[in-house]
Parts: sequence; structure tokens; C-alpha cells
Amino acid sequence: ADTLLRLDGLTTYYPIRKGLLGRVKGHVKAVDGVSLDIREGETLGLVGESGCGKSTIGRTILRLEESTGGQISYRGEDITRYSISKMRPLRTEMQMIFQDPFSSLNPWMRVRDILKEPMLAHGKATAATAEAEVDRLLDAVGIPRSYKDRYAHEFSGGQRQRIGIARALSLNPKFIVCDEPVSALDVSIQAQVLNLLKQLQKDLGLTYLFIAHGLGAVKYISTRIAVMYLGKVVEIGTKEDIFRNPKHPYTRVLLNAYPVPNPRLRGREKIVVQGDVPSPANPPSGCRFHTRCPFAQELCRQEEPPLAADASGHAAACHFAF
Ligand code: SF4
Ligand code: MG
Repeated sequence: ADTLLRLDGLTTYYPIRKGLLGRVKGHVKAVDGVSLDIREGETLGLVGESGCGKSTIGRTILRLEESTGGQISYRGEDITRYSISKMRPLRTEMQMIFQDPFSSLNPWMRVRDILKEPMLAHGKATAATAEAEVDRLLDAVGIPRSYKDRYAHEFSGGQRQRIGIARALSLNPKFIVCDEPVSALDVSIQAQVLNLLKQLQKDLGLTYLFIAHGLGAVKYISTRIAVMYLGKVVEIGTKEDIFRNPKHPYTRVLLNAYPVPNPRLRGREKIVVQGDVPSPANPPSGCRFHTRCPFAQELCRQEEPPLAADASGHAAACHFAF
């Protein structure tokens, strides 16, 4: 499939100031040199512990944060420094679904207005056509049309996330950043929302960047998976590569935290990591994972391992990749 979106050495740093407006004394390197591509029609899962930079990547692509280096290309065009007016048509093509539907929807707005507002603002509907569009969107996400006069606060978590999805769809997007869209939902509801996202992808030809802290939902929905640690991608491959043949020790840590349904894989030696995630303001030298990696050698402290791919494109950043 064609590449829809490509990141080349993307960095997003935040200045750390001495006092509120004081001089800059360092940077939080939230995203620190990420290169990856997202292919048309696929779901790229992006996983890692909180604070590893995965949400920042999604927000930087959508220009909710400014990148500090590297390049973002969309359909082969460098959009990294696009002005607000040049970004405007892309703003409708690229949408975001947020983790917490409780805070991303105004609880005192009626559903019909939540859905109409972006369409009217972007000229995707007129006052005359918007009502029919609202019905179409509610049908698409499985909310009864008769509920459209209700306020957002009257809905359950799962229903609110469906409304959040409908709002993202209202501008006919091609690419959606799904930032932990099921993490805040009851387990019993998660599968329904994931199924809805899958169905919509198929029906509308959507491409997803699907962000999650664990591998559970990602396993269900992803085509390929990228694993992040402290602002960097440490492994990327197909879903099968990541689950059956993980090459990076950190990926194996994440897999061990996730119950393996296949008993054949249970015997795999478990890896235990020590300590906390270091600060992204002051990442460790060499391989950033060396302070916690049970396989770390002297080389790991000194030299940063490149993200090296095998012939099939399965890549890992480890001097001693499996
Ligand atoms: Fe562990 Fe060294 Fe590989 Fe880093 S490069 S993951 S420290 S073995
Ligand atoms: Mg996040």
C-alpha cells in the first residue's frame, strides 16, 4: 500500500525554564528522532509506557504541538512548516479521537450541535443539509437518531466515545489519530468500540494511528506495531513480528505484561526490568533502555544502537537484538 504519512527524524522538545519565564535550562525530549511511515488503509499501533512520547507524536502530526526538528510528510508533501491557512484543508482530513470522551465533549451541548458545529465551521454542510448529516453519522456509530437532542452528559462512557468518533467522522477524514480511545472504558465496552473502529475503517477507507500503553487493544486492531521507549521507536514490525518474534528486550517486557493466549508461547523466558523510567529531560547515554535492561553490556552504555531492519522490514534498536 502507498505511504500516507511519513515521519523523518521527528523531534518535539519542550523547554524547561528556571521559573515561569526564566531562562531555558534544558529540554524535555518528548519525541526524539522518530522515523516511521503509515500506509494507506492500515492501522499502525503505537505502544509504550505513559510519558514515552506516543501521544506527543499524534499531537505533533495534527499540529496541536509544534515539532522542533525533523519532517512530517503527508501524501508525499512536506507539511512540517505549513502555515495555519495551508493546514486548513488537512485539518479536516486528519482527525483525532481522544482517550477521555468525558473531557473531550462539552457535557452541556446537545449531540446534534456537537456534530453540526465542525461541519458548519468547515463548510462541509449547510444549515439545510446538516440535519441529514447528523442522522447519517449517528447511524454510522450506532447511536439512535432519537437521542440527538440529549446532552453529552446523559450518555454512558461507551456511547460518549461513539459520539466522539462521530464528531471525528463529521469532516470526512482519511487519517485518524486514536489516542487510547478505549483505555477509559469498561473492559466489556472496549471490544464494541474497537469493532466499530474496525468496521468504519473498512467502510470508509480510513487509516489509523492507534496509540495505547499496552498491547491488548493494539493486538486486536493493528496491522503493524511500533514500540516506543523514552521518545524513540525501539522496534517496529507487523503484528506477527511483534507477537511471535519480538527482537527488542523492551518489547518482550511489554509482552510479558500481557497475558499470552497461546500456551505454546508461555514457556518463553520472562524478562523483569528494574527501576523506573528515566526522565526524558535527561535520557541515559547510549541505549536509553540500558539502565533497566537485564542484557545491558558496556557497549550499550556508550553507543546508541540504530533502528536496524531485516529484509522483511522488521526493525529493532538493540546491539544484541534477538
Ligand atoms: Fe539492552 Fe543493550 Fe539491547 Fe539496549 S542495546 S536493549 S541495553 S541489550
Ligand atoms: Mg497519552
